[in-house]
Amino acid sequence: MAKKIIIAGGGASGMCAAIYAARNGANVTIIEKNNVLGKKLSMTGNGRCNLTNLDMREDCFNAAARTRMKSWLAAFGATEVIRFFGSLGVVVRSEDGYIYPASGQATTVVTALCDEIRRLGVTVVYEQQVKRIEVAYGAAGDSRGSFGGNLSGDAKKDSGGNYGAEGDCGGYVVVTDKDRFSCDAVIMATGSLSGPKTTMSTGDGYYICRQLGMSIKDTFPALVGFKCDREDGLPQAGVRSMANVSFYLGTEELAREYGEVQITPEGISGIPVMQASREVVKLVSEKKPVYAEVDFFPDYDDKEFEALKQDMMRFLDKRTLGEFLQGFGNSNINELVMSRMKLGKGMKMKNISPSMAECILDNYRKLKFRIVDCNGYQASQVTTGGVSLGDIGDHFAYVNDNGIYCIGELLDVDGRCGGYNLQWAFMSGSIAGTAASM
Ligand SMILES: Cc1cc2nc3c(=O)[nH]c(=O)nc-3n(C[C@H](O)[C@H](O)[C@H](O)COP(=O)(O)OP(=O)(O)OC[C@H]3O[C@@H](n4cnc5c(N)ncnc54)[C@H](O)[C@@H]3O)c2cc1C
Repeated sequence: MAKKIIIAGGGASGMCAAIYAARNGANVTIIEKNNVLGKKLSMTGNGRCNLTNLDMREDCFNAAARTRMKSWLAAFGATEVIRFFGSLGVVVRSEDGYIYPASGQATTVVTALCDEIRRLGVTVVYEQQVKRIEVAYGAAGDSRGSFGGNLSGDAKKDSGGNYGAEGDCGGYVVVTDKDRFSCDAVIMATGSLSGPKTTMSTGDGYYICRQLGMSIKDTFPALVGFKCDREDGLPQAGVRSMANVSFYLGTEELAREYGEVQITPEGISGIPVMQASREVVKLVSEKKPVYAEVDFFPDYDDKEFEALKQDMMRFLDKRTLGEFLQGFGNSNINELVMSRMKLGKGMKMKNISPSMAECILDNYRKLKFRIVDCNGYQASQVTTGGVSLGDIGDHFAYVNDNGIYCIGELLDVDGRCGGYNLQWAFMSGSIAGTAASM
């Protein structure tokens, strides 16, 4: 008889798990609390969906995940993601190793997954929120004996109103806000806390898994921008500039990234800031004195920058400070530098000493912004923390109950920006979907 699998959550990882399990002959049901599958997936990559990355390395993931990532990537790396989407008829395109659907549309990816789910006869239950999992004594995968056997009532006794006759199959009952579903295995794919308003990602899985005895690592928003101290001064209008951005705790450099930095009247963001945020958010939440330092001349080494400054000294003539800076930096940053140094733009350069002029220009190499907070879960792309990998086996089953699997962002795994998080979702989904169906 086909194994009956319930998947809690129809996002990237849950849909992928459903396809692998159903292709392996399992009877699969997805329970999704939204009225569509893949809501977050359809918003990824600015609507283009960065599926994976050809530069796939363990160190693109959080430290806790790295040691195990090698074998997982060997089983289902970027090539396998591309092949998987090929099997769904999705042609992909590489942009410097960043893999997108050739259509340039995330909806192509979501529709292809949904079409395959329909073709395979997977049942999808919409608008039901999984609340808990009941484990019957002696469930196929339950190795805990009486401990934690049945978490909330005897699943076997309750047959009324169950979706799928109770006793038909194994020892798990997935309880939603409206129904009860019995099955042989459960795959938890409920995602994270990122984007709660837009995607309904409210971290339900952390609570459910904690009830099952799993440990949950503290969660923080990641791939996120930061609010900066306004008293130090921020530009009056948004600035976008290619720059190096470094984050420091005191004098200790925490992270350094290069890319297009955005500085707004509220704070600092952009891809390099989001990349670095994974190393910084915890300290920021602990109110540690973290600051960002922006180098607007990343393509100059120290010697070249020194020469550039000396070259600028040619203009210590009849110009005003505003005129002196206008060809040097972004106008909003020029205003910011002058206001931080309490210098008016009408000031004559002849009244500014060469050492003071150098000091002004040095700001463009090391402009500091004190971080006061991060922009929160709604603005974050992923959540760092979650179900501890120590509780999860190589095929993503809970070590104390191999009929319960956890996949995707629910786990304590987060990757860099650039297709790594979807890679993780598809990788964990494919491995768990296959294993659960055996
Ligand atoms: C704006 C944005 C852009 C991004 N762009 C990229 C990108 O280009 N490339 C990349 O690699 N990553 C990107 N990410 C990250 C990526 O989208 C996630 O890491 C990935 O979707 C996680 O997959 P998942 O299946 O674990 O969770 P999700 O895709 O969030 O799926 C979880 C599903 O579970 C459902 N659910 C939750 N709780 C319950 C419950 N109690 N009962 C039933 N259903 C429930 C949710 O409604 C949801 O459908 C982006 C994220 C955001 C927010």
